[in-house]
Order: sequence, then C-alpha cells, then structure tokens
Amino acid sequence: MPRDYTDQSPTAFQRRPHLTRDDEWIRAFLREAQVAHIASSADGQPFINPTMFWFDEENHQIAFHSNVAGRVRSNIEANPQVCLEASELGRFLPSNVALEFSLQFRSVAVYGPARIVTDPEEARRLLYGLIGKYFPTLTAGKEYRAITDKELRATSVYAIRIEAWSGKENWAERADQSDEWAPLDEKWFE
Ligand SMILES: Cc1cc2nc3c(=O)[nH]c(=O)nc-3n(C[C@H](O)[C@H](O)[C@H](O)COP(=O)(O)OP(=O)(O)OC[C@H]3O[C@@H](n4cnc5c(N)ncnc54)[C@H](O)[C@@H]3O)c2cc1C
Repeated sequence: MPRDYTDQSPTAFQRRPHLTRDDEWIRAFLREAQVAHIASSADGQPFINPTMFWFDEENHQIAFHSNVAGRVRSNIEANPQVCLEASELGRFLPSNVALEFSLQFRSVAVYGPARIVTDPEEARRLLYGLIGKYFPTLTAGKEYRAITDKELRATSVYAIRIEAWSGKENWAERADQSDEWAPLDEKWFE
C-alpha cells in the first residue's frame, strides 16, 4: 500500500535505514561532491539543472549560479522551493537474481528554498567560494581578474537554505545473491 506522506518532511520514512547516513557524513559528502542536479518546477512541469555548487557550511546553505536570464532563474523567481541531488558512483554489482542487481553509490538530497542573491558583496563571496572549491590554488586578483560589477550583472547567484537533507550510501563489495538460483561465475565479479 502507498504510504501517506501528508505533512511529512521530504526526508521521512527512508526505506532502508541501514543505508541512511548522518549529518556529519552528509557535510563531508557535500564538501567534496563535484556536480549537483537541482530540481525546480513551473506550472506543474519539473525541471532538472546539472550544475557546479558550493556548500557554504558556515551559513548552512548551498550556492550555485546560472546566467542572469533563463529557465532556472525564472522558475526560482516563481517558486523558490527546490531539491538538490549530488551523487558518486562506484562499480556495478551483478547478482544471480534480477531483484538484487545494483551499483555502489553515495548520494545526498537537499530540500529548501533558493534565494536569488542580490547583494553584490554576498554574491561575490559565494562566487569566490564556488571558484575556490573547484580551483583551490587560483587566487582572485592574481591568476584571474577579480569579479567585476559587469560580470555580476550577467550572473544569477542562488543560495539554497537547507531545510532538510538526507544521505544514503550503498558501497557493498557484492550485491546480495540468492541460493534459489545457480551462483554466478566468479568472472562476473572481477
Ligand atoms: C555537469 C554540468 C555542470 C554545469 N555547471 C554549471 C554551472 O555551474 N553554472 C551554469 O550556469 N551552468 C552550468 N551548467 C549548464 C547548466 O546545466 C544549464 O545549461 C545552465 O545553468 C542554464 O540553465 P537554464 O535553465 O537557465 O538555461 P535555458 O537555456 O534557459 O534552459 C532552457 C531549456 O534548455 C534545456 N537545457 C538547459 N540546460 C541544459 C542542460 N545542461 N542539458 C540539457 N538541456 C538543457 C532545458 O530543456 C531547459 O528547460 C552545467 C552543466 C553540466 C552538465
């Protein structure tokens, strides 16, 4: 029977609690994850936007950017509530029964409103945080020009206030196997 999710947090009722990860694990994951997918919606139509992002840990928010105009900006102006997902994949895990085929993964889902950052000082701080995550050895004003007002005007900067998050990890060495079918040859696990 489908569960009643009315008035529940979006992270409620994770089905496999042994794969659920705690806040510290989620923080560590968000510091390192490379790409996020941000879901927004307009007129009942969901959208997914792949993007770089920065976990602004001090302010418990996630920063990302897009062009000053476009779908993402327009959607968020109309409905700020978003969901962000980031994940890491390992090996594919074979099994001798269809139900158990799997893969190694780590992932985090974040829920909250995305704010369009209009204060230039704050926008600069978040953009430098974003650049610093991916290019930690490059310095503004040294290897690259400091962010100009014109560049800021061409950019939408967003900050997702983290209202809820969840982490899940399945990094098993092997998927479950069944003794109701012949075992897989070892070559499939190499
Ligand atoms: C791994 C990855 C990281 C990225 N990081 C950034 C980033 O940090 N900053 C940034 O500004 N952009 C990034 N991009 C590009 C980003 O996904 C969007 O193209 C960009 O943010 C513009 O989105 P928009 O909805 O405003 O564009 P619009 O052009 O307004 O979107 C209109 C429509 O075009 C289509 N579209 C837009 N983007 C994509 C896409 N990526 N793939 C397929 N269809 C698309 C969709 O159907 C969308 O509804 C990244 C893309 C990838 C794959």
